[in-house]
Amino acid sequence: MGNRVYVQLQRGFTLIELLVVIAIITVLSSILFPVFGKVREKARQTMCASNQRQIGLGFLQYAQDYDDNLPGRIYGGQTFRAALEPYLKSGKGVRSVWKCPSNADQKSNIDVSGYISTFTLNNTMDHFATWKPGLPLNSVGELSDKILMTEIKVRIWTDYNSPWWTPTPTSVATLGYWGYGQVAHNGRSNYLFCDGHVKALKPTQTITPVNHWTYACDSVTADDPAEPMLSAMHWLEVANP
Ligand SMILES: [Zn+2]
Repeated sequence: MGNRVYVQLQRGFTLIELLVVIAIITVLSSILFPVFGKVREKARQTMCASNQRQIGLGFLQYAQDYDDNLPGRIYGGQTFRAALEPYLKSGKGVRSVWKCPSNADQKSNIDVSGYISTFTLNNTMDHFATWKPGLPLNSVGELSDKILMTEIKVRIWTDYNSPWWTPTPTSVATLGYWGYGQVAHNGRSNYLFCDGHVKALKPTQTITPVNHWTYACDSVTADDPAEPMLSAMHWLEVANP
């Protein structure tokens, strides 16, 4: 009995058997690797959405404490991220809630308060050009319809998506400080809405059938020479170079 086993082990694999095994492994891996890639990306997307949800809670708590006002993008010498820090206690670093795990850039995405972040305000949710406290939430209109924060790929120096001065960029160099959107989650980005919910949408879905970018604030129009619609259109252009 022992001898027979020994003889069989000695025989080993034939070349054909070996080639068949290699072929099977090759076919399986070519099928599975893209699936693994998508699963990993899905996990990062979930993490990103969870981060945004926490930030959303921070925004709402802030608004409760400040008479229904959102934090200004930069006000009192600090960015809205710093204004939310007492609520989030997440810090400024790459492991904070301000970072999407699908964005590897850790150097250019730093705001003037020192926060490394890949999330930025919808610029129509802030008084532009004047350093004011943020908009009152009750001026926004339907909260569950309006985007408050979105994902950016590079450059958030002034902390909002700031699209309307920017011609369609062809490179980071032509963008200067203004940045452009990140669409990293299998063709979608995560968006935080003003009621605190987070949804993954394709860029086109942010404008049709409902335009999720516009605001309904009386005071903004006076501050802000740009049309919100134009702003949204440019943002989409920029998000889809
Ligand atoms: Zn993300």
